[in-house]
Amino acid sequence: AQERYASIRDRKTETQDGKEISLVMNAGLMADLPSLDSSGAEGVGLFRTELQFLVRNQMPKRSELVSLYSRVLDAAHGKRVVFRTLDIGSDKVLPYMKPTDEPNPALGWRAIRVGLDKPGVMRMQLQALIRAANGRPLTIMFPFVAQAEEYHMARAEVDKTIAREKRLGHVLPESLEIGAMLETPSLAFAPQKFFDDVGFLSIGGNDLKQFFFAADRENERVRRRYDTLNVSFLSLIERIVERCAISGTPLSFCGEDAGRPIEALCLAAMGIRTLSMRPASIGPVKSLLLRSNLDDLRKIITDARHRGEQSVRPAVMEWLKQQS
Ligand code: PEP
Ligand code: MG
Repeated sequence: AQERYASIRDRKTETQDGKEISLVMNAGLMADLPSLDSSGAEGVGLFRTELQFLVRNQMPKRSELVSLYSRVLDAAHGKRVVFRTLDIGSDKVLPYMKPTDEPNPALGWRAIRVGLDKPGVMRMQLQALIRAANGRPLTIMFPFVAQAEEYHMARAEVDKTIAREKRLGHVLPESLEIGAMLETPSLAFAPQKFFDDVGFLSIGGNDLKQFFFAADRENERVRRRYDTLNVSFLSLIERIVERCAISGTPLSFCGEDAGRPIEALCLAAMGIRTLSMRPASIGPVKSLLLRSNLDDLRKIITDARHRGEQSVRPAVMEWLKQQS
């Protein structure tokens, strides 16, 4: 399928009205890295580090992590890689960790909550990332941040780790970007100061949508019930885009919707300029973006919202039909 898009692979993604969109890819294994070149992705917008912890029956050693992260950076040939710290709990249970019996795991002790309460593993991971960078630029993203304080505590762990690595004589990263995933509605309403402080934000649409509509992403009965192009969800996205614009905070969207051409197009029309998706989606998403005028689409979306429609999808589909 990627052959079909080979002719546009090396083209930058500029829409008909001259807006540049950066298309990056999601990854989680070394085996994903060759897709950087074959898909034309500009970088790795989300490297899910938990897969490495999930595929084995004991905690990986720090040296193993250093070697893996270092090989990932080698394979990226200088393209930016956003490493997301361990996102476990909920649907991702480590076989060698004592299971916690929680009535609602998705709302439970997971991701950064575990990282902050039991910082040993997070510290090991941060050390491994710094050593793997070995003087190269490093980008770290914390998952499931629900309030600013969690980001600040995680950030303090990074600072402490940097200081320790320096004392131990390790080479520090040439530059360090620290960001957070915005995947709980609460973070969209954090004080503006948080948006000033955070290095960058990436909307985790899978979780954000699950919590916004209170609809389990794992539950077939409800997960498709609410449209991503629902006007309430788009209002939330609009608000996040506006708040990031005020503070100049770089914003991206990862999560499956970034790889669905129509959803991706609407996200771009709402002002998202970086989309991270599985490599196979880059071609189809790019192809549609290249053909589209985002200003025109934004007007279609605004009109549908004013008419009081529940989802802008019918209006968007009609507009797309007229384009072709
Ligand atoms: C998300 O929640 O949208 C996301 C990208 O992270 P994950 O799917 O790994 O929870
Ligand atoms: Mg998530």
